[in-house]
Amino acid sequence: MNSITESKKLNDTVIKGGYCIGCGICATVKNSPFEIKFDNYSKLQAKVDENRVIEADAKVLNLCPFSNESKNEDEIGEELFGKTNIKHDKLGYIDSTFAGYVNEHEFRDKGSSGGMGSWILSELLNSNLVDGIIHVKPSEGNVLFKYTISHTIEEVSEGSSSRYYPIEMAEVIGLIRENSGRYAIVGLPCFIKSIRLLASQDTVINERIKFCVGLVCGHLKSAHFASMWGWQQGVHPDKLENINFRQKLDNNNASKYAVKISSEDKDIISPPVSELYGANWGWGFFKYQACDYCDDVVGETADISIGDAWLPEYVSDSKGTNVVVIRNKMISNLIQKARIDKRLHFDEITAEKVVQSQSSGFNHRREGLAYRLHLKDKNDEWRPNKRVQPSSNHLSKKLQLRQELRMDLANQSHIAFQEALKIGEFSEFKKKMDPIVKDYEETYKITLVRKVVNHVKKILNQI
Ligand SMILES: Cc1cc2nc3c(=O)[nH]c(=O)nc-3n(C[C@H](O)[C@H](O)[C@H](O)COP(=O)(O)OP(=O)(O)OC[C@H]3O[C@@H](n4cnc5c(N)ncnc54)[C@H](O)[C@@H]3O)c2cc1C
Repeated sequence: MNSITESKKLNDTVIKGGYCIGCGICATVKNSPFEIKFDNYSKLQAKVDENRVIEADAKVLNLCPFSNESKNEDEIGEELFGKTNIKHDKLGYIDSTFAGYVNEHEFRDKGSSGGMGSWILSELLNSNLVDGIIHVKPSEGNVLFKYTISHTIEEVSEGSSSRYYPIEMAEVIGLIRENSGRYAIVGLPCFIKSIRLLASQDTVINERIKFCVGLVCGHLKSAHFASMWGWQQGVHPDKLENINFRQKLDNNNASKYAVKISSEDKDIISPPVSELYGANWGWGFFKYQACDYCDDVVGETADISIGDAWLPEYVSDSKGTNVVVIRNKMISNLIQKARIDKRLHFDEITAEKVVQSQSSGFNHRREGLAYRLHLKDKNDEWRPNKRVQPSSNHLSKKLQLRQELRMDLANQSHIAFQEALKIGEFSEFKKKMDPIVKDYEETYKITLVRKVVNHVKKILNQI
């Protein structure tokens, strides 16, 4: 493809179609016309910089994780790990799979889950395998969080916890280009895919980014997700200064966590978010549309992927437990050694157990995605190519409706929150969302006939 037309094509397909995740990779290439800005719904998005020309000679199409010209996760994974690892259809090329937590220092206390994210980043620094860590930390100024480079264990520790918040990498990639050194980066699956795509055509980035740590991902949220928690606790979005999305609550299930809201004059620890409005990730409030067209749940192109062990055998421990998928042998060796030293408390689990820990995510990004792709094709709209094939008849009418309502919930949440902000009442948001939430929840109700059938089946099984 003539590179003159690449920016225009990216703009006309991914960006105008609403599939941009705002990762910023397209803004990092020479002559890129793109800049990353918040849109009206507080999502970071690539936008054509008005001072630059769209026809600029920038090679962006094979970098964007949602373009149809870039390699997919299978292709990238095979190049990186195909010779050494086993291919799993949902986890990518795997070396080994674990559930567990960190048994030293404050990693587990400070982490969202078992503390493995900050531990592996610190271990890479301690082992002198990297000089800097690129991760997401609280920020001063007009954003709550941004990608930052840490150089010490203390600085890495300050970045612990999950940021369900828009972030972009263009600025930090610029810093890596300017400052030689060896780095590890942590990111969501599509962000790590972007880094792999950039590294495959940029020798400086390829030499400097030595390790990619992936976070398992349900979906990314706009900044209004943070505002929603703060506002419910009496802190207006304009006054919100910091938020811990994963404040652990002792003696509860790990899934029963709170949020810690900080404003100028106070810190508030909320009740468990499950008791607040909007905590159900299935509702998908403030979700980027791009996330509904992603088929990588665990970060298949990362050297190691880390998530929560949402499994009955681990969830009762309020301190949090990770699921871990290892792909890189060097990381595998670090982990084996730490297990022997009892610095990590890890159980070997099967790949299927990891999949089970993310069953809702896989259901949404396999069966659900197939249906969403079908709808786009039916309407003759452009959409990214996926490893999942479009289909409709694998879902009952009720399950199709559930998927449609999920899209509606995400779309309307952006609009409804804007309206609530305009009139200055959080209740307006709830008023607008409640009817769709109600219809969505109806799709989970079991009919009387189904109840009877289930009961008869149970009796027959007992006989
Ligand atoms: C948007 C989002 C959605 C997620 N969805 C799921 C899910 O569906 N299922 C699941 O099991 N896990 C999910 N996770 C991962 C989970 O929340 C934890 O981050 C993970 O289990 C690691 O916990 P930890 O205690 O090991 O890491 P910690 O020790 O807390 O370290 C986390 C590291 O990740 C970095 N980080 C935090 N947020 C981001 C971000 N947005 N982008 C890049 N780096 C970041 C931090 O700076 C820190 O270095 C999600 C995370 C995010 C950010």
